[in-house]
Amino acid sequence: MVNELTEARRIRVTGVVQGVGFRPFVWRLASELKLNGWVKNDAAGVEIHAEGRNLDVLITRLRSEAPPLARVDAVTLQPAQVESHAGFMIVESTGGKVSTAIGHDTAPCAACLAELFDPDNRRYRHPFITCTHCGPRYTVTRRLPYDRPQTSLAPFPFCPDCQREYTDPADRRFHAETTCCPNCGPRLQLLDAAGQPMAGDPIAAALALLNAGKIVAIKGLGGFHLACDARNAATVALLRERKQREEKPFAVMLGAVLSAPTFAVLTADDVALLESSERPIVLLPKQPAADALLAGVAPGLGEIGLLLPATPIQCLLFHDAPDLVLVMTSANPHGEPLVIGNDEALQRLAGSADAFLLHDRDIVVRCDDSVRRVDGFVRRARGYVPRAIRLPHQVPSVLAVGGWFKNTICVTRGNEAFVSQHIGDLDNAAACGFFEETVTHLLHILDVTPEIVAHDLHPDFHSTRFAAAFAAERGIPALGVQHHHAHIAAVCAEHGVTEPVLGLALDGIGLGTGGADGTAWGGELLRVEGPSFERLGHLRPLALPGGDVAAREPWRMAAAALHALGRGDEIVRRFADEPAAATLLKMLERGIHCPQTSSAGRLFDAAAGLLGACRRTSFEGQAAMLLEGLAARHGPVAALAGGWRSEAANCLDLLPVFAYLADCEEASGGAALFHATLAAALVDWVAGAAVRTGIRHVAAAGGCLLNRLLVAALRAGLAARGLTLMEARTLPPSDGGLALGQAWVAANASNAANECRQP
Ligand code: ZN
Ligand code: ZN
Ligand code: FE
Repeated sequence: MVNELTEARRIRVTGVVQGVGFRPFVWRLASELKLNGWVKNDAAGVEIHAEGRNLDVLITRLRSEAPPLARVDAVTLQPAQVESHAGFMIVESTGGKVSTAIGHDTAPCAACLAELFDPDNRRYRHPFITCTHCGPRYTVTRRLPYDRPQTSLAPFPFCPDCQREYTDPADRRFHAETTCCPNCGPRLQLLDAAGQPMAGDPIAAALALLNAGKIVAIKGLGGFHLACDARNAATVALLRERKQREEKPFAVMLGAVLSAPTFAVLTADDVALLESSERPIVLLPKQPAADALLAGVAPGLGEIGLLLPATPIQCLLFHDAPDLVLVMTSANPHGEPLVIGNDEALQRLAGSADAFLLHDRDIVVRCDDSVRRVDGFVRRARGYVPRAIRLPHQVPSVLAVGGWFKNTICVTRGNEAFVSQHIGDLDNAAACGFFEETVTHLLHILDVTPEIVAHDLHPDFHSTRFAAAFAAERGIPALGVQHHHAHIAAVCAEHGVTEPVLGLALDGIGLGTGGADGTAWGGELLRVEGPSFERLGHLRPLALPGGDVAAREPWRMAAAALHALGRGDEIVRRFADEPAAATLLKMLERGIHCPQTSSAGRLFDAAAGLLGACRRTSFEGQAAMLLEGLAARHGPVAALAGGWRSEAANCLDLLPVFAYLADCEEASGGAALFHATLAAALVDWVAGAAVRTGIRHVAAAGGCLLNRLLVAALRAGLAARGLTLMEARTLPPSDGGLALGQAWVAANASNAANECRQP
């Protein structure tokens, strides 16, 4: 009823407000408050026209009562004409320039789970149950605005019952774009190794196969998994053989958090993280009994990765077999990108899987499981992408293409940075294809036209070559960012720090500024300020005997350390069973094919090699992980007195501790001592630089920051010296976070250039 108290407002809501039940929420609120008007999705978010009395109450409650998956960034108001609507309506989406966000994929909510196992519900045991508060989002959405025709549910027209729910504002599936039911939704199927349908209920039949020690490919949210009984050592060994993944740890899925303490030590925060709707793989300290119970799952390592069911299909499997413990490993043969298509699965997983549990709802966007701990990420993907990272100020639109290992890309828009899901190592054509696909998709869904492209300094990375071509094609600048500068800049961006920081980069190997012939960097102390940095110091370089191969053979790094200690004569005796030992000694003596590196990662390799913990690695970081596992089992020790030298302020020399390790009889004690001494040396080094420069903020990043023991010791040590340590929190500290740092440097460089141009 229009009267003199009726007023009207146009209300714009931005943030994550599409695909999260925001319009029905607005509808219910407006109905309760007896307001008239409409709500719609558009490319900028949600727009509301509301008229009636007490509009302020609506505006307050839009923020305070927003649906669980929504993130309201801003609510802006404009006065409007009273249009005398009769009632409140949800109206059709309109297109236009896209500047809103897609929601992330989440596990089934409690209400959907209750229906899933209620025999009287029409969705009883429906493997695709979802609602406005849960289910697939990013992985099923082709483009914005988020509406059913833009998702992979488009081929499934609603049945009359679903249509009624979708259009009934009082229903909890009102405008739930991914909703469906047994009458109109996708179908679950179990196929045998030859791709032929198998008889019986797909869930029951798949369980029978798993219990019989078979390997089943299961279609998940962002790709296929290979699943098998984690307690069956023979099957786990067979899976390793078929995947050709000799030693990399497997993640383990449990039905409920109650069974987790059998395998891992958990805090309340760990439990909350396991049960969070993002359902990441959570890395947890192993129980001593875990290796015997789950033989071959994560051999020799101190941690085990656990996760809980993330899809209704997984929930059904574990509901019917509550004691089930499954290895759930990404189906990515030969380190290539994850399998997402049904035909692709039958082809690429032929020989790996004994059966295929799949369905006809397409995965539009490939997205691996996320791997993390409570305090940070190892791999950021499903459940977290495409959430934005807020930057401290507006920046130009940058495309940053990351590095080589664990590639991700980053696109900035306004004051937000969007980092892609984990893409992988760009060492094969398929991964490079996925990389390019991701660039196109991310720019498309964000509707960003980059003004600058940022890349690593290394000229041979696929990402670097791509960046050069991309920039040339569009006539925009390309900026090379030094690898460790980018690592530190990523932490600064995340923390919104614009003042100078001391950057401690502890990494594998990255190209320094000296060009391809210079020393490979990787253990650097930098002074980082905005787009520029200065190298204050570095770890004492060690030789890489044989070049890149030394990064995969820790015994070579041990030999390099012995040679540096003047104990080269021990090399052949210690590594008598290594045919290359004598040649290696000659190379070291003559300095032939022995490039130098200040890499901290290679120090871990050298220590592991000297302690006999690891001769050769089969995946990046393995020696350091084994060393950390040994040290964790041993327990804390004090740092070795005199274990390092830093007479020259710009060079930290850890050879003294290596002299000790070379004579150490007991590997786990040696590993603990190495961790303690390295941390103490680094704290001393950084604290010295803090005194000299007057800078109190320390940012640390690089692959070595994934080492739990090292990080804990650095935190405590720096705090004791009155210094704050900033770490990567919402992105991995390793190369998975590199793109954000590249983007931040390029954005600041561009801002600085624009400021210079001001009169
Ligand atoms: Zn739900
Ligand atoms: Zn239906
Ligand atoms: Fe790196």
